[in-house]
Amino acid sequence: MLEGKAALVTGSTSGIGLGIASHLAGKGANIMLSGFGDPDAIAAIRDDLSKQYGVTVAYSGSDLSDPAAVADLMAEMESTFGGTDILVNNAGIQHVAPVEEMPVEKWDAIIAINLSASFHTIRAAVPQMRRKGWGRIINLASAHALVASPYKSAYVAAKHGIAGLTKTVALEVARDNITCNAVCPGYVMTDLVRGQIADTAKARGISEKQVIEDVMLAAQPTKKFVSIEEVSEVVGFLCKDAAASVTGAILPVDGGWSAQ
Ligand code: NAD
Repeated sequence: MLEGKAALVTGSTSGIGLGIASHLAGKGANIMLSGFGDPDAIAAIRDDLSKQYGVTVAYSGSDLSDPAAVADLMAEMESTFGGTDILVNNAGIQHVAPVEEMPVEKWDAIIAINLSASFHTIRAAVPQMRRKGWGRIINLASAHALVASPYKSAYVAAKHGIAGLTKTVALEVARDNITCNAVCPGYVMTDLVRGQIADTAKARGISEKQVIEDVMLAAQPTKKFVSIEEVSEVVGFLCKDAAASVTGAILPVDGGWSAQ
């Protein structure tokens, strides 16, 4: 289905991004992995995906908080694959603290990685996609693009920003056979979520078990974590020609959280 297409999935060395990269490779796309991690583990992922699916798997360790590094990554998409067909903006970080205690450097890093990096990749990818006459931009937002939770000021601000960026870009590329959508997962058990359980317990003065049951799963009427596969399937659908008219959408995959 995606044979010959080149997909950049930012933040694909772990969690949801790795799931999406594997899914798109399974559909035949060549992949640019991005993110941080143990070099041997990353080499094993590349090897695994290319052997399993017969696709090319490249890797960039660019720090997406640095616009110059993003520019280098997008230039690498040109030199390695002749441009970008599918751009999945997935890299993200979190920090949980009351607004008056939110460290300024955490605010800056979250806005840079979770919001501005997507502007920089899209800005460079759109001309590449226009040249190819086809493109798919998928921004991994969050239920927090639609609703807020206390103690996540930077994250919620960045994710609401992503929703606005998504809609604006969708309008600008609507006649170019390029779509731009945001996928908004509820809680998915990844390193990002595991890392915030202790901080949330501290901010709210409750136990880690209570964070899982009374904060995370309390928000989701299904009372289940969303799976990486469920998110990847939605991304895969958005890459299809059948999804050509789905653009500017902010799509919840959140077990009903944002319906409340
Ligand atoms: P994760 O921590 O497992 O993965 C984050 C990825 O981003 C990693 O590959 C990491 O190396 C990369 N990354 C972090 N900082 C980077 C930087 N400066 N430059 C380049 N790469 C960087 O997290 P995840 O849970 O898989 O989250 C992926 C995306 O999904 C994020 O945008 C997150 O906000 C969003 N999301 C997650 C959940 C959830 O419950 N896990 C829910 C909704 C939305």
